[in-house]
Amino acid sequence: MDPGALAAWLDARGEPAYRADQVLAGAHRPDVAGFADLSDLPLGLRSALSGAFRFSTIHASHVIGTDDGLTAKAVHQLADGQRIESVLMRSPARGTSAARTTICISSQAGCAVNCPFCATGQAGFARQLTAGEIVDQVLHWHRHPWLALGADWRPGAPTGHYNIVFMGMGEPLNNRERVFDAVRLLNDPRRLGVGARHVTVSTSGVVPGMDAMISDLPQVNLAISLHAADDELRNELVPINRKWPVAEVIRAGRRFSERTGRRVSLEYVMIDGLNDGLPAAERLAGLARGWRSHVNLIPLNPTPGSRWSGTPLARVRAFADVIRAAGVTVTVRDTRGREIEAACGQLHAQLAGRSLQDLAAATPAAPVAS
Ligand code: SAH
Ligand code: SF4
Repeated sequence: MDPGALAAWLDARGEPAYRADQVLAGAHRPDVAGFADLSDLPLGLRSALSGAFRFSTIHASHVIGTDDGLTAKAVHQLADGQRIESVLMRSPARGTSAARTTICISSQAGCAVNCPFCATGQAGFARQLTAGEIVDQVLHWHRHPWLALGADWRPGAPTGHYNIVFMGMGEPLNNRERVFDAVRLLNDPRRLGVGARHVTVSTSGVVPGMDAMISDLPQVNLAISLHAADDELRNELVPINRKWPVAEVIRAGRRFSERTGRRVSLEYVMIDGLNDGLPAAERLAGLARGWRSHVNLIPLNPTPGSRWSGTPLARVRAFADVIRAAGVTVTVRDTRGREIEAACGQLHAQLAGRSLQDLAAATPAAPVAS
């Protein structure tokens, strides 16, 4: 909610002006589950807030964990029964890199882009998410014992504590205004205070949206889901390519990096025998060379009934070597959560028709990090 509107609502009830900040800070504490828990507010005000506002747009969540508690996935049910997914991924400190937590969130219920390897794409588009529904996915994990920020948390404190990636269900730049509003809400130091540099928007290549990021959110990271280096194959794998072909998408990525000074990530899902040959690696390197880009190779996480499988690791490495030899930085993404259907839209499909409340009763409690 807009702080001005909250202040006006409080004022109309005869509350002092400082209450607005108190309510906002309290509602973002990780150890609070509802307005009733805001113990520094008078009881009457707490019940008035409960009567007038929803504490969360998420009605029920089903959470499952894997990778020894490092990865957890949630299916969230919204007010109208739509379901969306979010994922929490933690990486312990390793060598010189510090421990890291990434929250992966959805921007739409479903997706209209219709990529054939993606479970969300296969399910089709249902509706746009509101900015509140986007932010509430982050708040879900912010309050979840798995993230365990602790009771000494203050607004603004977790900057750098977690990264947020729009890599769940949906094409964020097909829901641009609400996604941008959600990023601003997440940035707000009175709320979570997550720095824009800790947020990544992943797009299938919506060129006008990428240009809007340059002007509106220049500090947010951009990832482009390329998946093929030529139009013929990309038309099949990422059908929006018919509207904005490879060359235009790469030009938009270059504009973004030139104007913002930020490195753009080129995502490439590796599908066995389809887009993983060495000539494709040469073409991809050609697109990535000469500007501030980075190639991220992701072995396909096959959806149930998929006609495709992921490229075996040895060939992913050979593909990476060709790209590296061309002077382009490249990483191979560690695939997480296969056993919890953690690729885009998969768990949602598996749980269709089952009650999340019933599932919650059957789920063991999350381990609390010390
Ligand atoms: N719609 C946006 C963001 C959500 S999808 C986009 O496409 O970029 C986030 C990432 O997950 C994309 O790179 C997408 O291609 C990838 N993805 C989808 N299904 C996958 C699967 N089955 N295995 C591996 N990656 C997948
Ligand atoms: Fe939509 Fe992204 Fe899935 Fe393609 S990969 S269908 S753009 S969510």
